Amino acid sequence: MITVDNVTVGYGTAGFIKAVDQVSLTINDNEILGIAGESGSGKSTLMRAVYGDFSTGLRILSGTVTGRFVDATSGQVIEAQSKNFAPLWWDQLSYIPQGSMSVLNPLMKIEQQVVDGLPARERKGGSHALRQRIAGFFSGFGLEETVLDAYPHQLSGGMRQRVLVAIAAFVNPRLILADEPTTALDVVVQKKILLMMVEIQRRQRNSLVLVSHDLGVHYQITDRLVIMYRGQIVEQGPTAEIFANPQHDYTKNLIASLPRLHGKRAVESMGVLA
Ligand code: ADP
Ligand code: MG
Repeated sequence: MITVDNVTVGYGTAGFIKAVDQVSLTINDNEILGIAGESGSGKSTLMRAVYGDFSTGLRILSGTVTGRFVDATSGQVIEAQSKNFAPLWWDQLSYIPQGSMSVLNPLMKIEQQVVDGLPARERKGGSHALRQRIAGFFSGFGLEETVLDAYPHQLSGGMRQRVLVAIAAFVNPRLILADEPTTALDVVVQKKILLMMVEIQRRQRNSLVLVSHDLGVHYQITDRLVIMYRGQIVEQGPTAEIFANPQHDYTKNLIASLPRLHGKRAVESMGVLA
């Protein structure tokens, strides 16, 4: 669905640090791809380049990010570079940026924030029907209808993050990019949100890219894993293989520093993915 081919990304004008350096990867249909690596390794920069968000002054200095999508109504194939993705946002791909709890408008009720972001075709059928659809979708993930009438400050941090995930998934985009969606939340809430994301991916059969510096998260839910270090990909492959047989010293150290893991994937042992 997305091909990142030898991409180098920098910020600002000329010459300085390459935040992402000659990175190549693919995002396939119907998979959960993890991106791991320590803080500053270029994970968020890579996500912005893939989403086509250049608002932070980011520039693709060389290489290409190509997306191949299918228009939901016409069935037509759309092929584009990420610098031209903006018209496809929401519909085809959505993005939960790092630290996104602050993305919600504090002065607006949740329902309005969902509606405002929707493509025009999704608003058809009048506001009552739309509210019912949103409420139905939210309730599928344990979010009560009253959430729609709340302002962000009336919700807990975990609830706000679940709302953001639900908003990102509501239009059934083919790709969801989630940058550290559970960082800064406590472990119980973190699990709830991860399970919600897995559940969405299973139902919608779309692709999820999950950025996390926490390898335990990747071990639990990703199919494939990309390890970044100082702007480069040092290793990528099926998650189970990387855990079983890490190749790069950096990956070996990361895995060695993890708390002891049980044989079973933690999410499976919670019974949700059975
Ligand atoms: P990660 O998400 O893995 O922590 P980032 O992509 O945020 O890494 O950062 C990679 C590099 O790019 C770092 O050196 C960081 O300082 C730099 N960087 C990130 N965002 C910006 C920005 N908006 N302007 C300038 N440099 C940035
Ligand atoms: Mg980051």
